[in-house]
Amino acid sequence: AERCIANHIPSLNAFITPLRAGQWLDRVREADRRKEQGKPTSAVDGRLIAIKDNICTRDVPTTCGSGTLDHFTSPFNATVVEQLEAAGAVIAGKTNLDEFGMGSHSVHSHFGPVKNSRCHRSGQDLSAGGSSGGSAVAVAADQCYVALGTDTGGSVRLPAAYTGTVGFKPSYGLISRWGVVAYANSLDTVGILGRNTASVRDIFAILNQHDARDPTSLSPSSRSRITSHIQAPPLASRLSSSPIRIGVPIEYNISELSPSVRHAWLLTLSHLREQGHTIHTVSLPATKHALSAYYVLAPAEASSNLAKYDGVRYGTRTEGPDSDRRPDGYLYANTRGNGFGPEVQRRILLGTYSLSADAMDNYFIQAQRVRRLVQQDFNAVFAAQHLLATAQAQDAKGRQELADVDVLICPTAPSPPPLLSKLGSSPLDAYVNDVFTVPASLAGLPAISVPVTVTGTTQDADADAAEVVGIQVLGQYGDDMLVMQVGELLE
Ligand code: GLN
Repeated sequence: AERCIANHIPSLNAFITPLRAGQWLDRVREADRRKEQGKPTSAVDGRLIAIKDNICTRDVPTTCGSGTLDHFTSPFNATVVEQLEAAGAVIAGKTNLDEFGMGSHSVHSHFGPVKNSRCHRSGQDLSAGGSSGGSAVAVAADQCYVALGTDTGGSVRLPAAYTGTVGFKPSYGLISRWGVVAYANSLDTVGILGRNTASVRDIFAILNQHDARDPTSLSPSSRSRITSHIQAPPLASRLSSSPIRIGVPIEYNISELSPSVRHAWLLTLSHLREQGHTIHTVSLPATKHALSAYYVLAPAEASSNLAKYDGVRYGTRTEGPDSDRRPDGYLYANTRGNGFGPEVQRRILLGTYSLSADAMDNYFIQAQRVRRLVQQDFNAVFAAQHLLATAQAQDAKGRQELADVDVLICPTAPSPPPLLSKLGSSPLDAYVNDVFTVPASLAGLPAISVPVTVTGTTQDADADAAEVVGIQVLGQYGDDMLVMQVGELLE
């Protein structure tokens, strides 16, 4: 079914650069021959994979959804693209996104908004979530087998929740970021979208490798310390033989939660309890500050990363007289003023301000403190120790009595996908959608969003008729396999 990218659906605008069958059919046929001979290269040999357009590919452009890179083609492939191609996977095209990954609805793209392949019962278009909305819709509409996205503060998980797909953000540093255009380096991860957890796991197994070209890639020695967690085959038996301890963070039960979302959350917990697992209330007190901290830290890093798009080294140049008499005559100002969309310009201003000498202590430094508190909160509730934390840090953490849980379960987003026509004009309206996804990003933890279907009990006026809600499973650093296995229990 995934080969029907031939049926690429232009109205959804999921792809910025869709590849025509002529560009990939031979490679699929070669893979078919390998399979006939009983020698497939991997579990994804000959499968079509869509790539978010902020991940570099040598053969087709990488635009980042931006006017400033609308003619840019990378001279090299990102490591993740190389890894997939070496495994026999076939690139299906480059998917639409919020410019440079900044957004929650995939509407801030130079190439127009993405439309959700599900629509509201009124027939109106729904948000696909963002920023990896194109990747999520390509998966949901069967235009590829799986898709790669990037998740800095929720950009894989939120679109997964809105489109009814599975979206996985790994522990920070496990998947290479080399050739992935940086938004906020300390938060950026490559994530995977699929129609089920098994397909996501197949891709993760291929991408979960050290890469010397990415300085934040987890070293082989650290990897060996978490190998038992990442690759542990006995996990399956662990899940069936001993119950898992599931934490429910009380701070996530906010009054703004949509009835259908709360219903799906409760349904999930009672389903797991019926399977013999135990539910424990836990407290993550720094949660309420996490969103503000994220929206200080991410733009700060972004303002620095985007400085290179000046029309000289990178970026589509807007020429202007090089005169200091007319400020709008500057090459640099013109290029950046024309090349970047309004949301990206807002982030650059926010970031530049919060890093300025007068504001630094009040914003950036405070946000870094909150980030550490968020990390400590998680360490205090997980039974597993953070495998990269020092012994002192482990001793110092205020472990919550009786709280030792294996995973946390909470909604991915506070509400079902909003109508595209009703998106608020205030940027804050978009930012609040990330309230449940940014904590795992700040702490670098693995998290998966899995679609859970609820039937007929909601009075939620905005709920989609299908009532598919994204439920998120979070785990301790390195517990990526456990997170995926618990996610699978919910399918
Ligand atoms: N919506 C968030 C933002 O705009 C997250 C984006 C992302 O994860 N790339 O920053």
